[in-house]
Amino acid sequence: MRTFEARYAGRCGVCDERIRPGDDATYVEDEIAHATCPTPTVLANPCSRCWMVPAANGQCGCDE
Ligand SMILES: [Zn+2]
Ligand SMILES: [Zn+2]
Repeated sequence: MRTFEARYAGRCGVCDERIRPGDDATYVEDEIAHATCPTPTVLANPCSRCWMVPAANGQCGCDE
């Protein structure tokens, strides 16, 4: 994950809180977000059978 120092005020795409200039920030799916906020990939629940995080189309290791 690439992080940088926010240069402008904005709104975090993950937690919806404000981002202030100088905060550590990153991009999550083209939206600015706090570097400390978990990305949607981290938030995604892994499958309880194969422990793979399902892909965007819902497929996990059980489907192979
Ligand atoms: Zn955030
Ligand atoms: Zn599975």
